Amino acid sequence: MRIPSASEINRWIAEGREDKVYKQRYWTNLIRPTVMKRCNNECSICKSKGKHTKANYVHHIKELKQYPENAYDLNNLIAVCWDCHEEIHERFKYKLKKENVELNDERW
Ligand SMILES: [Zn+2]
Ligand SMILES: [Zn+2]
Repeated sequence: MRIPSASEINRWIAEGREDKVYKQRYWTNLIRPTVMKRCNNECSICKSKGKHTKANYVHHIKELKQYPENAYDLNNLIAVCWDCHEEIHERFKYKLKKENVELNDERW
């Protein structure tokens, strides 16, 4: 299975095509299922609050655009549900707003 290089990922991001990160077989066949399995297909954030919710997304803890080198780093990935994922990014936006940093919309 081909593993995309860091420079390749950087180029996708520069082109606004970070969705390509999620279209690689390396992601769909290996990284994503590994993260989901590690989390028992449950949302890690809900779990930390004692709730059990099915995970829908694999989220980059260090944001993809800022840390493309961690795009496929299993330690940088957690399985989360839709609600928690929304919440993480809202919080993130708010934090950035406070720090007066320009933000682009994230694509999953
Ligand atoms: Zn959740
Ligand atoms: Zn995310």
